[in-house]
Amino acid sequence: MAAELHGVGVSPGVAVGPVARMGGEVPVPPEAPGGDPAVERSAAGEALEAVAADLEARGRAAGGDAQAVLEAQAMMARDPGLAEQVEQLAAGRGAARAVYEAFGVYRKLLGGAGDYMAARVADLDDVRDRVVARLLGVAMPGVPDPGHPFVLVARDLAPADTATLRREQVLALVTEEGGPTSHTAILAKSMGVPAVVACPGATRLQDGARVLVDGGAGQVVADPGEQLVRAAEARTRAREAARAASAGPGGTADGHQVGLLANVGGPGDVEAAVAAGAEGVGLLRTEFLFLDRTDPPPVAEQVAAYRAVFGAFPGGKVVVRTLDAGADKPLAFLDLGAEPNPALGVRGLRAVRRRPELLAAQLEAIAEAAAGSQAEVWVMAPMVATAEEAAWFHGQLAGRPVAKAGVMIEIPAAALLAGEILAACDFASLGTNDLAQYTFAADRLVGALAALQDPWQPALLKLVAATAAAGQAGGKPVGVCGEAAGDPVLALVLVGLGVTSLSMAPPSVADVRMLLGRHTLDDCRRLAQLAAGAPDAETARTRVRGATPALGELGL
Ligand code: PEP
Ligand code: MG
Repeated sequence: MAAELHGVGVSPGVAVGPVARMGGEVPVPPEAPGGDPAVERSAAGEALEAVAADLEARGRAAGGDAQAVLEAQAMMARDPGLAEQVEQLAAGRGAARAVYEAFGVYRKLLGGAGDYMAARVADLDDVRDRVVARLLGVAMPGVPDPGHPFVLVARDLAPADTATLRREQVLALVTEEGGPTSHTAILAKSMGVPAVVACPGATRLQDGARVLVDGGAGQVVADPGEQLVRAAEARTRAREAARAASAGPGGTADGHQVGLLANVGGPGDVEAAVAAGAEGVGLLRTEFLFLDRTDPPPVAEQVAAYRAVFGAFPGGKVVVRTLDAGADKPLAFLDLGAEPNPALGVRGLRAVRRRPELLAAQLEAIAEAAAGSQAEVWVMAPMVATAEEAAWFHGQLAGRPVAKAGVMIEIPAAALLAGEILAACDFASLGTNDLAQYTFAADRLVGALAALQDPWQPALLKLVAATAAAGQAGGKPVGVCGEAAGDPVLALVLVGLGVTSLSMAPPSVADVRMLLGRHTLDDCRRLAQLAAGAPDAETARTRVRGATPALGELGL
Protein backbone atom coordinates (compact mmCIF):
# COMPACT_ATOMS: atom_id res chain seq x y z
CA MET A 1 0.00 0.00 0.00
CA ALA A 2 1.40 3.39 -0.97
CA ALA A 3 1.86 5.71 2.06
CA GLU A 4 -0.41 8.77 2.01
CA LEU A 5 0.16 12.08 3.73
CA HIS A 6 -2.53 14.72 4.08
CA GLY A 7 -2.19 18.48 4.29
CA VAL A 8 -3.85 21.57 2.88
CA GLY A 9 -3.83 21.90 -0.90
CA VAL A 10 -2.95 25.53 -1.69
CA SER A 11 -2.10 25.44 -5.38
CA PRO A 12 -3.93 22.99 -7.64
CA GLY A 13 -2.57 20.46 -10.10
CA VAL A 14 -0.96 17.05 -9.90
CA ALA A 15 2.75 16.26 -10.23
CA VAL A 16 4.84 13.12 -9.86
CA GLY A 17 8.60 13.13 -9.24
CA PRO A 18 11.51 12.53 -6.91
CA VAL A 19 11.77 14.30 -3.55
CA ALA A 20 14.58 16.75 -2.83
CA ARG A 21 14.52 18.10 0.69
CA MET A 22 15.37 21.66 1.59
CA GLY A 23 18.34 21.52 3.91
CA GLY A 24 17.85 22.92 7.37
CA GLU A 25 20.62 24.00 9.69
CA VAL A 26 23.50 21.49 9.62
CA PRO A 27 24.12 20.28 13.20
CA VAL A 28 27.46 20.90 14.92
CA PRO A 29 29.17 17.49 15.03
CA PRO A 30 29.64 16.26 18.64
CA GLU A 31 33.05 16.31 20.33
CA ALA A 32 33.25 12.53 20.56
CA PRO A 33 36.32 10.37 19.88
CA GLY A 34 36.32 9.07 16.33
CA GLY A 35 36.88 5.61 14.92
CA ASP A 36 39.98 4.27 13.16
CA PRO A 37 42.05 7.42 12.32
CA ALA A 38 42.88 6.16 8.82
CA VAL A 39 39.20 5.59 8.04
CA GLU A 40 38.21 9.00 9.48
CA ARG A 41 40.97 10.74 7.50
CA SER A 42 39.98 9.16 4.24
CA ALA A 43 36.24 9.86 4.85
CA ALA A 44 37.05 13.53 5.46
CA GLY A 45 39.28 13.73 2.37
CA GLU A 46 36.63 12.13 0.18
CA ALA A 47 33.90 14.45 1.48
CA LEU A 48 36.03 17.57 0.85
CA GLU A 49 36.76 16.46 -2.71
CA ALA A 50 33.15 15.46 -3.42
CA VAL A 51 31.89 18.87 -2.25
CA ALA A 52 34.56 20.67 -4.31
CA ALA A 53 33.61 18.69 -7.43
CA ASP A 54 29.91 19.36 -6.82
CA LEU A 55 30.50 23.12 -6.41
CA GLU A 56 32.54 23.18 -9.62
CA ALA A 57 29.86 21.32 -11.55
CA ARG A 58 27.18 23.73 -10.31
CA GLY A 59 29.44 26.64 -11.30
CA ARG A 60 29.73 25.31 -14.84
CA ALA A 61 25.97 24.85 -15.03
CA ALA A 62 25.27 28.37 -13.68
CA GLY A 63 27.94 30.33 -15.61
CA GLY A 64 28.52 34.09 -15.11
CA ASP A 65 29.15 35.61 -11.68
CA ALA A 66 27.77 32.55 -9.92
CA GLN A 67 30.46 30.39 -11.54
CA ALA A 68 33.26 32.56 -10.12
CA VAL A 69 31.77 32.38 -6.61
CA LEU A 70 31.24 28.61 -6.76
CA GLU A 71 34.73 27.98 -8.12
CA ALA A 72 36.23 30.08 -5.34
CA GLN A 73 34.30 27.92 -2.87
CA ALA A 74 35.59 24.73 -4.54
CA MET A 75 39.12 26.07 -4.06
CA MET A 76 38.44 26.55 -0.36
CA ALA A 77 37.43 22.89 -0.09
CA ARG A 78 40.64 21.85 -1.90
CA ASP A 79 42.97 24.09 0.11
CA PRO A 80 46.04 21.97 1.00
CA GLY A 81 46.54 23.76 4.36
CA LEU A 82 42.96 22.92 5.31
CA ALA A 83 43.43 19.29 4.26
CA GLU A 84 46.52 19.08 6.50
CA GLN A 85 44.63 20.49 9.49
CA VAL A 86 41.81 18.02 8.90
CA GLU A 87 44.28 15.11 8.69
CA GLN A 88 45.86 16.04 12.01
CA LEU A 89 42.57 16.59 13.82
CA ALA A 90 40.96 13.42 12.43
CA ALA A 91 43.34 11.29 14.46
CA GLY A 92 41.46 11.92 17.71
CA ARG A 93 37.95 12.90 16.54
CA GLY A 94 35.41 11.81 14.00
CA ALA A 95 35.83 13.09 10.44
CA ALA A 96 32.89 15.53 10.73
CA ARG A 97 34.20 17.12 13.93
CA ALA A 98 37.72 17.36 12.46
CA VAL A 99 36.35 19.20 9.41
CA TYR A 100 34.27 21.47 11.61
CA GLU A 101 37.25 22.46 13.78
CA ALA A 102 39.69 22.87 10.86
CA PHE A 103 37.27 25.27 9.14
CA GLY A 104 36.99 27.10 12.48
CA VAL A 105 40.70 27.98 12.36
CA TYR A 106 40.35 29.41 8.83
CA ARG A 107 37.22 31.25 9.80
CA LYS A 108 39.10 33.18 12.50
CA LEU A 109 41.87 34.07 10.03
CA LEU A 110 39.41 35.35 7.43
CA GLY A 111 37.28 37.19 9.99
CA GLY A 112 40.31 39.24 11.12
CA ALA A 113 41.58 40.05 7.61
CA GLY A 114 39.56 43.11 6.63
CA ASP A 115 36.04 43.66 5.30
CA TYR A 116 36.42 41.91 1.94
CA MET A 117 37.76 38.72 3.49
CA ALA A 118 35.24 38.87 6.33
CA ALA A 119 32.50 38.81 3.72
CA ARG A 120 33.92 35.49 2.50
CA VAL A 121 33.22 33.93 5.92
CA ALA A 122 29.66 33.11 4.83
CA ASP A 123 31.01 31.31 1.73
CA LEU A 124 33.47 29.38 3.91
CA ASP A 125 30.72 28.41 6.37
CA ASP A 126 28.64 27.18 3.45
CA VAL A 127 31.50 24.92 2.27
CA ARG A 128 31.98 23.65 5.84
CA ASP A 129 28.27 22.89 6.23
CA ARG A 130 28.22 21.01 2.94
CA VAL A 131 31.17 18.83 3.91
CA VAL A 132 29.78 18.19 7.42
CA ALA A 133 26.29 17.42 6.02
CA ARG A 134 27.82 14.89 3.67
CA LEU A 135 29.74 13.20 6.48
CA LEU A 136 26.73 13.14 8.81
CA GLY A 137 24.35 12.00 6.06
CA VAL A 138 21.94 14.93 6.56
CA ALA A 139 20.38 17.13 3.85
CA MET A 140 22.65 19.76 2.27
CA PRO A 141 21.87 23.32 3.40
CA GLY A 142 19.76 25.57 1.19
CA VAL A 143 17.77 24.86 -1.96
CA PRO A 144 18.66 21.39 -3.29
CA ASP A 145 20.04 21.00 -6.79
CA PRO A 146 19.92 17.31 -7.67
CA GLY A 147 20.42 18.04 -11.37
CA HIS A 148 16.89 17.00 -12.42
CA PRO A 149 13.37 18.30 -11.74
CA PHE A 150 12.18 17.57 -8.21
CA VAL A 151 9.40 17.88 -5.65
CA LEU A 152 10.75 20.36 -3.09
CA VAL A 153 10.01 19.24 0.47
CA ALA A 154 10.73 21.57 3.39
CA ARG A 155 9.68 22.32 6.93
CA ASP A 156 8.61 25.76 5.65
CA LEU A 157 9.95 28.14 3.04
CA ALA A 158 11.08 31.73 3.58
CA PRO A 159 11.43 34.24 0.73
CA ALA A 160 15.24 34.11 0.96
CA ASP A 161 15.20 30.31 0.60
CA THR A 162 13.31 30.43 -2.63
CA ALA A 163 14.84 33.44 -4.38
CA THR A 164 16.96 31.13 -6.54
CA LEU A 165 14.29 28.52 -7.32
CA ARG A 166 13.88 27.89 -11.02
CA ARG A 167 10.40 27.10 -12.31
CA GLU A 168 11.61 24.41 -14.70
CA GLN A 169 13.26 22.51 -11.85
CA VAL A 170 10.37 22.50 -9.39
CA LEU A 171 7.56 20.02 -10.00
CA ALA A 172 5.67 20.71 -6.77
CA LEU A 173 6.12 22.12 -3.26
CA VAL A 174 5.30 20.28 -0.03
CA THR A 175 5.83 21.76 3.43
CA GLU A 176 5.35 20.28 6.87
CA GLU A 177 4.31 23.67 8.31
CA GLY A 178 2.86 26.84 6.84
CA GLY A 179 -0.70 27.55 5.87
CA PRO A 180 -2.89 28.83 3.07
CA THR A 181 -1.39 32.33 3.14
CA SER A 182 2.18 31.27 3.87
CA HIS A 183 5.00 32.30 1.61
CA THR A 184 5.02 28.77 0.14
CA ALA A 185 1.38 29.09 -0.93
CA ILE A 186 1.93 32.49 -2.52
CA LEU A 187 5.09 31.32 -4.28
CA ALA A 188 3.47 28.12 -5.58
CA LYS A 189 0.53 30.04 -7.02
CA SER A 190 2.79 32.58 -8.67
CA MET A 191 4.90 29.75 -10.18
CA GLY A 192 1.80 27.77 -11.13
CA VAL A 193 3.04 24.56 -9.47
CA PRO A 194 0.97 22.22 -7.25
CA ALA A 195 1.56 22.68 -3.51
CA VAL A 196 0.50 21.06 -0.25
CA VAL A 197 1.27 22.80 3.07
CA ALA A 198 0.71 21.90 6.75
CA CYS A 199 1.47 18.29 5.82
CA PRO A 200 2.66 16.29 8.85
CA GLY A 201 5.35 13.71 8.07
CA ALA A 202 6.51 15.48 4.89
CA THR A 203 10.08 16.04 6.05
CA ARG A 204 10.44 12.32 6.77
CA LEU A 205 10.16 11.61 3.03
CA GLN A 206 13.57 10.56 1.76
CA ASP A 207 15.55 12.35 -0.95
CA GLY A 208 14.96 10.61 -4.28
CA ALA A 209 11.71 8.92 -3.15
CA ARG A 210 9.05 9.15 -5.88
CA VAL A 211 5.90 10.95 -4.75
CA LEU A 212 2.62 12.08 -6.25
CA VAL A 213 1.49 15.54 -5.12
CA ASP A 214 -2.16 16.52 -5.54
CA GLY A 215 -2.29 20.25 -4.82
CA GLY A 216 -6.07 20.38 -5.04
CA ALA A 217 -6.94 17.54 -2.67
CA GLY A 218 -3.97 18.28 -0.37
CA GLN A 219 -2.59 14.77 -0.73
CA VAL A 220 0.95 13.41 -1.05
CA VAL A 221 1.34 9.73 -1.98
CA ALA A 222 4.76 8.09 -1.55
CA ASP A 223 5.73 5.42 -4.09
CA PRO A 224 2.39 5.84 -5.90
CA GLY A 225 2.40 2.91 -8.34
CA GLU A 226 1.67 3.07 -12.07
CA GLN A 227 -2.12 3.03 -11.83
CA LEU A 228 -2.23 6.13 -9.62
CA VAL A 229 0.34 7.89 -11.79
CA ARG A 230 -1.66 7.18 -14.95
CA ALA A 231 -4.82 8.45 -13.27
CA ALA A 232 -2.96 11.62 -12.23
CA GLU A 233 -1.73 12.16 -15.76
CA ALA A 234 -5.26 11.77 -17.07
CA ARG A 235 -6.45 14.43 -14.58
CA THR A 236 -3.69 16.80 -15.70
CA ARG A 237 -4.74 16.29 -19.34
CA ALA A 238 -8.40 16.84 -18.47
CA ARG A 239 -7.53 20.06 -16.63
CA GLU A 240 -5.42 21.33 -19.51
CA ALA A 241 -8.14 20.54 -22.05
CA ALA A 242 -10.78 22.23 -19.89
CA ARG A 243 -8.58 25.31 -19.44
CA ALA A 244 -7.90 25.50 -23.17
CA ALA A 245 -11.62 25.29 -23.89
CA SER A 246 -12.52 28.25 -21.65
CA ALA A 247 -11.59 31.67 -22.96
CA GLY A 248 -12.90 35.20 -22.96
CA PRO A 249 -14.26 37.28 -20.11
CA GLY A 250 -14.92 35.56 -16.79
CA GLY A 251 -18.43 34.50 -15.91
CA THR A 252 -20.68 31.72 -14.71
CA ALA A 253 -22.23 29.07 -16.98
CA ASP A 254 -25.46 31.11 -17.06
CA GLY A 255 -23.75 34.31 -18.14
CA HIS A 256 -23.31 36.20 -14.86
CA GLN A 257 -20.15 38.27 -15.50
CA VAL A 258 -17.26 38.29 -13.02
CA GLY A 259 -14.13 40.29 -13.93
CA LEU A 260 -11.00 38.12 -13.70
CA LEU A 261 -8.04 40.35 -13.01
CA ALA A 262 -4.37 39.99 -12.07
CA ASN A 263 -2.44 41.04 -8.99
CA VAL A 264 0.68 42.78 -10.18
CA GLY A 265 3.73 43.63 -8.07
CA GLY A 266 5.45 45.76 -10.72
CA PRO A 267 5.97 46.16 -14.47
CA GLY A 268 7.88 42.83 -14.47
CA ASP A 269 4.64 40.94 -13.74
CA VAL A 270 2.64 42.52 -16.54
CA GLU A 271 3.69 40.13 -19.28
CA ALA A 272 2.55 37.11 -17.25
CA ALA A 273 -0.77 38.84 -16.49
CA VAL A 274 -1.43 39.51 -20.19
CA ALA A 275 -0.33 35.98 -21.16
CA ALA A 276 -2.69 34.51 -18.55
CA GLY A 277 -5.60 36.28 -20.22
CA ALA A 278 -6.35 38.56 -17.27
CA GLU A 279 -8.94 41.19 -18.20
CA GLY A 280 -6.96 43.85 -16.36
CA VAL A 281 -5.21 44.47 -13.06
CA GLY A 282 -7.25 44.25 -9.86
CA LEU A 283 -4.38 45.16 -7.56
CA LEU A 284 -1.26 47.06 -8.57
CA ARG A 285 0.93 46.91 -5.47
CA THR A 286 2.80 50.20 -5.87
CA GLU A 287 5.14 49.45 -2.94
CA PHE A 288 7.61 47.98 -5.45
CA LEU A 289 8.55 51.58 -6.29
CA PHE A 290 9.12 52.58 -2.69
CA LEU A 291 10.75 49.61 -0.95
CA ASP A 292 14.54 49.38 -0.51
CA ARG A 293 15.19 53.06 -1.04
CA THR A 294 16.27 55.92 1.14
CA ASP A 295 14.11 58.59 -0.56
CA PRO A 296 10.68 58.50 -2.18
CA PRO A 297 10.75 57.81 -5.94
CA PRO A 298 10.55 60.98 -8.09
CA VAL A 299 7.21 61.63 -9.81
CA ALA A 300 8.71 61.06 -13.30
CA GLU A 301 9.88 57.59 -12.30
CA GLN A 302 6.45 56.76 -10.94
CA VAL A 303 4.73 58.02 -14.10
CA ALA A 304 6.94 55.75 -16.24
CA ALA A 305 6.20 52.69 -14.10
CA TYR A 306 2.42 53.29 -14.04
CA ARG A 307 2.39 53.96 -17.77
CA ALA A 308 4.10 50.62 -18.41
CA VAL A 309 1.30 48.83 -16.59
CA PHE A 310 -1.59 50.90 -18.02
CA GLY A 311 -0.19 50.46 -21.54
CA ALA A 312 -0.47 46.67 -21.29
CA PHE A 313 -4.26 46.80 -20.79
CA PRO A 314 -5.79 49.17 -23.38
CA GLY A 315 -9.54 49.13 -22.78
CA GLY A 316 -9.05 47.08 -19.60
CA LYS A 317 -9.29 48.13 -15.98
CA VAL A 318 -6.22 48.77 -13.81
CA VAL A 319 -6.77 49.27 -10.08
CA VAL A 320 -3.84 51.10 -8.53
CA ARG A 321 -3.42 50.79 -4.80
CA THR A 322 -1.71 53.79 -3.28
CA LEU A 323 1.30 53.23 -1.06
CA ASP A 324 0.64 50.58 1.60
CA ALA A 325 3.56 51.09 3.97
CA GLY A 326 4.16 49.67 7.43
CA ALA A 327 4.25 46.32 9.28
CA ASP A 328 4.94 43.62 6.66
CA LYS A 329 5.92 46.35 4.14
CA PRO A 330 8.45 48.51 6.06
CA LEU A 331 9.72 51.67 4.39
CA ALA A 332 13.09 53.12 5.36
CA PHE A 333 12.29 56.77 4.61
CA LEU A 334 8.86 56.82 6.22
CA ASP A 335 10.18 57.25 9.73
CA LEU A 336 7.11 57.41 11.91
CA GLY A 337 8.92 56.38 15.11
CA ALA A 338 9.22 53.04 16.89
CA GLU A 339 5.94 51.16 17.31
CA PRO A 340 5.36 48.33 19.77
CA ASN A 341 2.98 46.63 17.35
CA PRO A 342 3.46 47.81 13.76
CA ALA A 343 0.57 45.73 12.36
CA LEU A 344 -1.72 47.86 14.54
CA GLY A 345 0.28 51.02 14.02
CA VAL A 346 0.48 53.94 11.64
CA ARG A 347 0.29 52.05 8.36
CA GLY A 348 -1.47 52.10 5.00
CA LEU A 349 -3.65 55.18 4.53
CA ARG A 350 -2.90 56.32 8.10
CA ALA A 351 0.79 56.62 7.26
CA VAL A 352 0.32 58.76 4.14
CA ARG A 353 -2.15 61.01 5.91
CA ARG A 354 0.76 61.94 8.16
CA ARG A 355 3.02 62.47 5.15
CA PRO A 356 0.52 64.06 2.72
CA GLU A 357 3.25 65.11 0.29
CA LEU A 358 3.92 61.40 -0.45
CA LEU A 359 0.30 60.72 -1.38
CA ALA A 360 0.01 63.97 -3.33
CA ALA A 361 3.07 63.09 -5.44
CA GLN A 362 1.75 59.58 -6.06
CA LEU A 363 -1.71 60.78 -7.09
CA GLU A 364 -0.12 63.34 -9.39
CA ALA A 365 1.94 60.56 -11.03
CA ILE A 366 -1.07 58.24 -11.38
CA ALA A 367 -3.15 61.06 -12.89
CA GLU A 368 -0.42 61.98 -15.36
CA ALA A 369 0.02 58.35 -16.47
CA ALA A 370 -3.76 57.82 -16.65
CA ALA A 371 -4.36 60.94 -18.70
CA GLY A 372 -2.48 59.56 -21.70
CA SER A 373 -3.58 55.96 -21.44
CA GLN A 374 -6.42 53.85 -22.79
CA ALA A 375 -6.75 51.81 -19.61
CA GLU A 376 -9.65 52.50 -17.26
CA VAL A 377 -7.76 53.59 -14.16
CA TRP A 378 -9.26 53.06 -10.71
CA VAL A 379 -7.41 54.08 -7.55
CA MET A 380 -7.85 52.65 -4.06
CA ALA A 381 -6.47 53.26 -0.58
CA PRO A 382 -5.19 50.45 1.65
CA MET A 383 -6.10 49.83 5.29
CA VAL A 384 -9.19 52.00 5.50
CA ALA A 385 -10.98 51.67 8.83
CA THR A 386 -13.76 54.27 8.76
CA ALA A 387 -16.16 56.05 6.44
CA GLU A 388 -14.42 59.32 7.28
CA GLU A 389 -11.16 57.92 5.87
CA ALA A 390 -12.94 56.69 2.74
CA ALA A 391 -14.49 60.13 2.22
CA TRP A 392 -11.15 61.85 2.79
CA PHE A 393 -9.45 59.65 0.21
CA HIS A 394 -12.27 60.12 -2.28
CA GLY A 395 -11.85 63.87 -1.80
CA GLN A 396 -8.14 63.67 -2.66
CA LEU A 397 -9.06 62.28 -6.08
CA ALA A 398 -11.72 64.84 -6.92
CA GLY A 399 -11.06 66.44 -10.30
CA ARG A 400 -8.32 63.96 -11.27
CA PRO A 401 -8.63 61.91 -14.49
CA VAL A 402 -9.34 58.55 -12.85
CA ALA A 403 -12.51 56.54 -13.39
CA LYS A 404 -13.19 55.54 -9.79
CA ALA A 405 -11.80 56.14 -6.30
CA GLY A 406 -12.33 53.36 -3.78
CA VAL A 407 -10.92 51.62 -0.74
CA MET A 408 -9.64 48.26 0.37
CA ILE A 409 -11.64 46.44 2.98
CA GLU A 410 -9.03 44.71 5.16
CA ILE A 411 -10.17 45.70 8.63
CA PRO A 412 -13.27 44.08 10.19
CA ALA A 413 -14.64 47.50 11.20
CA ALA A 414 -14.69 48.50 7.53
CA ALA A 415 -16.48 45.30 6.49
CA LEU A 416 -19.11 45.81 9.19
CA LEU A 417 -19.75 49.39 8.07
CA ALA A 418 -19.26 48.70 4.35
CA GLY A 419 -22.55 50.43 3.54
CA GLU A 420 -21.38 53.73 5.04
CA ILE A 421 -17.93 53.35 3.52
CA LEU A 422 -19.29 52.60 0.05
CA ALA A 423 -21.59 55.60 0.33
CA ALA A 424 -18.44 57.72 0.66
CA CYS A 425 -16.54 56.30 -2.34
CA ASP A 426 -16.99 54.44 -5.63
CA PHE A 427 -15.97 50.81 -4.99
CA ALA A 428 -14.38 48.39 -2.53
CA SER A 429 -11.85 45.61 -2.87
CA LEU A 430 -11.56 43.00 -0.14
CA GLY A 431 -7.97 42.33 0.95
CA THR A 432 -8.67 38.96 2.50
CA ASN A 433 -5.04 38.45 3.60
CA ASP A 434 -5.15 41.34 6.03
CA LEU A 435 -8.85 40.92 6.73
CA ALA A 436 -8.04 37.41 8.03
CA GLN A 437 -5.12 38.76 10.05
CA TYR A 438 -7.28 41.34 11.81
CA THR A 439 -10.36 39.16 12.16
CA PHE A 440 -8.43 36.41 13.95
CA ALA A 441 -5.82 38.61 15.68
CA ALA A 442 -3.29 36.33 13.98
CA ASP A 443 -0.15 37.95 12.55
CA ARG A 444 0.14 37.00 8.87
CA LEU A 445 3.92 36.78 9.25
CA VAL A 446 3.76 34.13 12.00
CA GLY A 447 3.75 30.73 10.32
CA ALA A 448 2.56 28.97 13.47
CA LEU A 449 -0.76 30.89 13.26
CA ALA A 450 -1.32 30.05 9.59
CA ALA A 451 -4.43 27.94 10.24
CA LEU A 452 -6.21 31.06 11.52
CA GLN A 453 -5.27 32.87 8.31
CA ASP A 454 -7.17 30.29 6.25
CA PRO A 455 -9.48 32.21 3.88
CA TRP A 456 -12.04 29.40 4.17
CA GLN A 457 -12.75 30.52 7.75
CA PRO A 458 -16.54 31.07 7.92
CA ALA A 459 -16.05 34.24 10.05
CA LEU A 460 -14.02 35.76 7.23
CA LEU A 461 -16.58 34.64 4.64
CA LYS A 462 -19.34 36.36 6.64
CA LEU A 463 -17.41 39.65 6.49
CA VAL A 464 -17.02 39.15 2.73
CA ALA A 465 -20.76 38.52 2.47
CA ALA A 466 -21.60 41.66 4.48
CA THR A 467 -19.37 43.80 2.26
CA ALA A 468 -20.72 42.30 -0.96
CA ALA A 469 -24.30 42.81 0.25
CA ALA A 470 -23.53 46.47 0.96
CA GLY A 471 -22.12 46.78 -2.54
CA GLN A 472 -25.23 45.27 -4.09
CA ALA A 473 -27.50 47.49 -2.01
CA GLY A 474 -25.62 50.63 -3.09
CA GLY A 475 -24.96 49.50 -6.67
CA LYS A 476 -21.17 49.68 -6.14
CA PRO A 477 -18.61 47.07 -7.28
CA VAL A 478 -17.00 44.90 -4.59
CA GLY A 479 -14.07 42.72 -5.67
CA VAL A 480 -11.65 40.43 -3.86
CA CYS A 481 -7.90 40.85 -4.36
CA GLY A 482 -6.47 38.73 -1.51
CA GLU A 483 -5.06 35.24 -2.01
CA ALA A 484 -8.58 33.81 -1.56
CA ALA A 485 -9.55 34.88 -5.08
CA GLY A 486 -6.96 32.59 -6.68
CA ASP A 487 -8.33 29.38 -5.16
CA PRO A 488 -10.67 28.18 -7.93
CA VAL A 489 -13.07 26.44 -5.55
CA LEU A 490 -13.17 29.30 -3.07
CA ALA A 491 -13.66 31.65 -6.04
CA LEU A 492 -17.04 29.94 -6.64
CA VAL A 493 -17.95 30.66 -3.02
CA LEU A 494 -16.89 34.31 -3.29
CA VAL A 495 -19.01 34.77 -6.41
CA GLY A 496 -21.91 33.12 -4.58
CA LEU A 497 -21.42 35.60 -1.74
CA GLY A 498 -21.90 38.41 -4.24
CA VAL A 499 -18.46 39.76 -5.16
CA THR A 500 -18.26 41.26 -8.63
CA SER A 501 -14.59 40.67 -9.58
CA LEU A 502 -11.67 38.47 -8.56
CA SER A 503 -8.03 39.50 -8.74
CA MET A 504 -5.26 36.93 -8.35
CA ALA A 505 -1.74 35.82 -9.24
CA PRO A 506 -1.71 35.38 -13.06
CA PRO A 507 -1.24 31.56 -13.12
CA SER A 508 -4.54 31.13 -11.23
CA VAL A 509 -6.66 32.95 -13.83
CA ALA A 510 -7.11 29.97 -16.19
CA ASP A 511 -8.36 27.57 -13.47
CA VAL A 512 -10.69 30.15 -11.94
CA ARG A 513 -12.16 31.05 -15.35
CA MET A 514 -12.61 27.39 -16.27
CA LEU A 515 -14.27 26.29 -13.03
CA LEU A 516 -16.51 29.35 -12.83
CA GLY A 517 -17.66 28.73 -16.40
CA ARG A 518 -18.83 25.25 -15.35
CA HIS A 519 -21.12 26.54 -12.58
CA THR A 520 -24.24 28.66 -12.58
CA LEU A 521 -24.73 31.60 -10.24
CA ASP A 522 -27.20 29.48 -8.29
CA ASP A 523 -24.57 26.72 -7.90
CA CYS A 524 -22.19 29.35 -6.54
CA ARG A 525 -24.82 30.66 -4.11
CA ARG A 526 -25.50 27.13 -2.84
CA LEU A 527 -21.77 26.53 -2.29
CA ALA A 528 -21.46 29.90 -0.57
CA GLN A 529 -24.19 28.93 1.89
CA LEU A 530 -22.46 25.63 2.61
CA ALA A 531 -19.16 27.40 3.32
CA ALA A 532 -20.44 30.36 5.33
CA GLY A 533 -22.69 28.05 7.38
CA ALA A 534 -19.85 25.66 8.33
CA PRO A 535 -18.44 25.71 11.87
CA ASP A 536 -14.80 25.96 10.78
CA ALA A 537 -12.51 26.33 7.77
CA GLU A 538 -11.79 22.65 7.32
CA THR A 539 -15.47 21.74 7.32
CA ALA A 540 -16.22 24.58 4.92
CA ARG A 541 -13.53 23.41 2.50
CA THR A 542 -14.54 19.73 2.78
CA ARG A 543 -18.25 20.42 2.34
CA VAL A 544 -17.78 22.63 -0.68
CA ARG A 545 -15.27 20.31 -2.32
CA GLY A 546 -17.62 17.40 -1.66
CA ALA A 547 -20.43 19.27 -3.41
CA THR A 548 -18.25 20.10 -6.45
CA PRO A 549 -17.76 16.65 -8.02
CA ALA A 550 -15.72 17.64 -11.10
CA LEU A 551 -12.72 18.61 -8.96
CA GLY A 552 -11.22 15.12 -8.69
CA GLU A 553 -11.52 14.54 -12.40
CA LEU A 554 -9.78 17.88 -13.15
CA GLY A 555 -7.00 17.60 -10.56
CA LEU A 556 -8.16 20.78 -8.82
C1 PEP B 1 -4.59 41.75 1.30
O1 PEP B 1 -4.29 42.17 2.41
O2 PEP B 1 -5.39 40.79 1.12
C2 PEP B 1 -4.01 42.34 0.10
C3 PEP B 1 -4.45 42.01 -1.10
O3 PEP B 1 -3.00 43.21 0.25
P1 PEP B 1 -1.52 42.80 0.67
O4 PEP B 1 -1.41 41.31 0.63
O5 PEP B 1 -0.62 43.49 -0.30
O6 PEP B 1 -1.41 43.35 2.05
MG1 MG C 1 -3.30 44.06 2.67
